[in-house]
Amino acid sequence: MLSGLMMDYPLTLNTIVEHASRMTPRKTIKTKQPDGAWREYSYADFHRRVKKLGNVLEALGVEPGDRVATFAWNNYQHLEFYFGIPCAGAVVHTLNIRLSHEQLKFIIEHAEDKVIFVEGSLLPLIEPIADQLKTVKRYVLFNLAEGQSSSLPNVSHYEDLMAAASDEYDWRCDDETMAMGLCYTSGTTGMPKGVLYSHRSMMLHTLGVLQAAALGPTEADVALAVVPQFHAMAWGLPYACAWVGATIVMPGPHLQPAPLADMIERERVTIAAGVPTIWNGLYHELRQKPRDISSVTQLVVGGSAMPRGLIEAYERDFGVNVVHAWGMTEMSPIGSVAKLQTRHQELDAHGRWDIKAKQGYFVPGVDARIVDEDGKELPWDGATMGELQVRGYWVVGQYYKIENDRQHFTDDGWFRTGDVVTIDGDGFMTITDRTKDLVKSGGEWISSVDLENMLISHPAVLEAAVIAVPDERWGERPLAVLAPLDGGHDPQTLNNYLLERFPKFWLPDAYIVVDEIPKTGVGKMDKKVLRQWHADGKL
Ligand code: AMP
Repeated sequence: MLSGLMMDYPLTLNTIVEHASRMTPRKTIKTKQPDGAWREYSYADFHRRVKKLGNVLEALGVEPGDRVATFAWNNYQHLEFYFGIPCAGAVVHTLNIRLSHEQLKFIIEHAEDKVIFVEGSLLPLIEPIADQLKTVKRYVLFNLAEGQSSSLPNVSHYEDLMAAASDEYDWRCDDETMAMGLCYTSGTTGMPKGVLYSHRSMMLHTLGVLQAAALGPTEADVALAVVPQFHAMAWGLPYACAWVGATIVMPGPHLQPAPLADMIERERVTIAAGVPTIWNGLYHELRQKPRDISSVTQLVVGGSAMPRGLIEAYERDFGVNVVHAWGMTEMSPIGSVAKLQTRHQELDAHGRWDIKAKQGYFVPGVDARIVDEDGKELPWDGATMGELQVRGYWVVGQYYKIENDRQHFTDDGWFRTGDVVTIDGDGFMTITDRTKDLVKSGGEWISSVDLENMLISHPAVLEAAVIAVPDERWGERPLAVLAPLDGGHDPQTLNNYLLERFPKFWLPDAYIVVDEIPKTGVGKMDKKVLRQWHADGKL
């Protein structure tokens, strides 16, 4: 073999901070702080603070490989942790602030977090379990309200530590295979599992996100990450945007529709990323009180399926282009994107919305296949459903501290996503369900996702979740749980509506009306809770 003669230059995250501070030193990072005031600083300031953080961590006794957790909203401090912790050789572990005490305790113990950075408004969520967190040696607090104190033991204050630290620092991440980040899956099936990213995988993912075929942010963009920084590394946007020097806007705790609408208008945001629930809320807000959101070129949505009707409504009512993407914590997270391709240009508007409602093509860097229950590969014909398996530069190879995991990994080196999909001849993927959410009635599959999308496109329905419930005759039957918008949701009307698209046996056996569909910590409909409610006779 003749080896290539190019440099073996490590794929490590310090490259991004250095590049941004040299190429775009005056571009800014803006945060809406808890009190509503804006705080803005430059990439040059950011670079200095990330270096200070390296010294802070060293002074706290953080060693390479240690896990350092964050418990925070999206803000500039959290962005500093995103870079400063891995560039000091440690692992940034983003804790989901919406987990139960039991889950939080499990994750912190499992990860053996040594230090946790905690934001003031979130203290009440972690203080009650602090006496059980034996691995944690220090809590570093920031954004405390005037006069706020804490019952946590071994506390330091972030800004005090930063003020005392030098901004001269030698990065401690010279090996690209080092772990850089740890994120636990949201745990809709069983306990959460840890995904341990390396510098290399995250750098390649960042290059992946920067492709025009993916999200492709540039220096000219103003990016708003509504997706929490604890949800799959905010989908890689912070790293990608920093590398090219895009303006980054962080919403802090202000995630309600009205402040988000104001923020997009005020900052002339071009790329905004969030889950469908967020964009559903924003849409209704904008209908009630219009704002100018015409600056948005990509309203990025993922995490759950974006209903086609909402994609259409954004474009029709506000001229806003929705970019539907699919990913997983296990994929850092970007897997596929539904941007139109050349052959779609001749479609009419309805045809284009059909395409945009799919989960899209796999971005370069991700390899995919679909298989049946016996692991046999299935055709890409747009009709055959199978389990999606993936592999690639930024796909998990093993969960943290779980060895010989035949349930999630195949013998020939693929990761089993648990998503049931079809892929058409041009590589466009459509998710029909999670393996555990499919309804099997009389031996036939019913897609809960298809039913939900159709129901939510009905003007009387705000949210819809379909679950499988046991049935003596058919094995399972679909049950629809609805949060109505206003009146008009009687079963007969909804049945007639569904019959426009689906066969009769797909009709839900019942429609149950609730005030709000329960959500997971990252804002997805929590069908595990609905199934439990049903089992407990609460529905
Ligand atoms: P998480 O790791 O929490 O982001 O969850 C990943 C799972 O969310 C995937 O396996 C899918 O089941 C689901 N998901 C993510 N994006 C989409 C999407 N655009 N449409 C439908 N489901 C999605």
